[in-house]
Amino acid sequence: MPTEEQRSNQTAPDQQDSGAGITITNNRVIRFLLTNKNVQHAVNLITVAIFFYAIYRAAVGPTDSATNFGNVAFFGFWWAPVMLLSLLFVGRIWCYFCPMGAIVRFTQRFGLQRHFPMYTRKWFVLGIPLSVLSLTALSFAMARWPMYKVGVAYSPRLIPVYWLTILGVAVGVSLVYQRQAFCRYVCPATGVMSVTSKFSPLEIAQNTETGVQCATLEYKSDFLSTDRRCTACMKCTTEQPDEDVELRFRWPGAKVLTERIPLVDEALVALIIWAVFPIDHVLGGPVEETTLVGSLPGFLAPTAAYAVSIIATILAFTAVNRLASSWSGIDWTTSFTKFGLAYAPLGLMFTLGSHAIGGLLESGGQTLNVFARGLGIPLSLPAGASPAIVSAWNDFFVTGWLWLAVLWSAVIAWQIARTMTDTKKLAVKAFAPHFALMVGSTYVVATVLASH
Ligand code: SF4
Ligand code: SF4
Repeated sequence: MPTEEQRSNQTAPDQQDSGAGITITNNRVIRFLLTNKNVQHAVNLITVAIFFYAIYRAAVGPTDSATNFGNVAFFGFWWAPVMLLSLLFVGRIWCYFCPMGAIVRFTQRFGLQRHFPMYTRKWFVLGIPLSVLSLTALSFAMARWPMYKVGVAYSPRLIPVYWLTILGVAVGVSLVYQRQAFCRYVCPATGVMSVTSKFSPLEIAQNTETGVQCATLEYKSDFLSTDRRCTACMKCTTEQPDEDVELRFRWPGAKVLTERIPLVDEALVALIIWAVFPIDHVLGGPVEETTLVGSLPGFLAPTAAYAVSIIATILAFTAVNRLASSWSGIDWTTSFTKFGLAYAPLGLMFTLGSHAIGGLLESGGQTLNVFARGLGIPLSLPAGASPAIVSAWNDFFVTGWLWLAVLWSAVIAWQIARTMTDTKKLAVKAFAPHFALMVGSTYVVATVLASH
């Protein structure tokens, strides 16, 4: 039986994938911030304090979600735009600030320190070999479900239940398992971040192996990287403060092509991102109105519709990938992983455009006002942009933005097709069914949104 260390080396990173970069630790202030071990502790003290304060204010503040500090802090400020933008632009940098990660690192000191059951075992679903890493796809789908299907995102009194449940799981896992097992296998955001980091144009990383044993034992090579599955615990930088840290630039999505050990579980996360944002947005409602699903009591109806959206998305992709791979003669499992990841921009651009940009334009000023006033800082920004600007953005969202997402996904899918086939003709056969699905599904999403 291999040890956790040996098995975890399956995800050893590839330093040669890195793009061009600048050494940010040449700046003394940045070097201090990245290499002094007390800095992250201080930052985490603040984020943990805000986390609990927001839970408290959600429980006792106004029941109106637009004016409740807890509601605004979690869903108007933290999730979108702060976390979303950080995920899309700088990989896993959020983990540095995350209050949950800080609590996990703290509580595991008092735990049983057991090894988490690892992922050498594979379970075959639809012929796809899934590992324990697919837990993160499930936890993401389950964590997103109560937000809009049960109403947590607009019901302040449900927020404490939601976050304390997740916190309870995090503490429970940390009290049993070692090395930030919650962060690596259970956190609803970790799988999403592993996917979004492949599409982010920036990465913060050390140049070389530090010789410091990774706190999570996730890698054979041990160096900080906001790419990969690193939880930004900063052990690498604080124990090797002389090692340089770079800010690297790369083509968003190039990592999908260069990933040396692609994981099918990450492709599943990418498909679920696509499913729960644009697809469920247009499919969930009609499914809920069917006689069968609509007759279910309470929140079982939206829950069933949500599950249908996810299952339908995965099945549609699977069928299309079967067609494309048998038509072009490429390996079915590898193509599932590679092409599955190519669909992520469809979900990421949808949520970026609607939740982050759309939300900021509509009520970004109001969000900042409530957040700042909740912390005792008087702020009176205009509530949002003018109705004309909001309307122009909404028009562009369906006529341009969603199609830019298709372009992004299609460019990646075409590059994948080129690298997996020997001729242009076979590449077209591998690419065309996926392109048709991307265009067809986006056409339906855009048409439904335009009609609202
Ligand atoms: S993996 Fe999840 S819980 Fe852990 S630090 Fe990152 S966001 Fe926080
Ligand atoms: S910062 Fe270094 S030690 Fe910490 S998780 Fe990342 S690679 Fe491992």
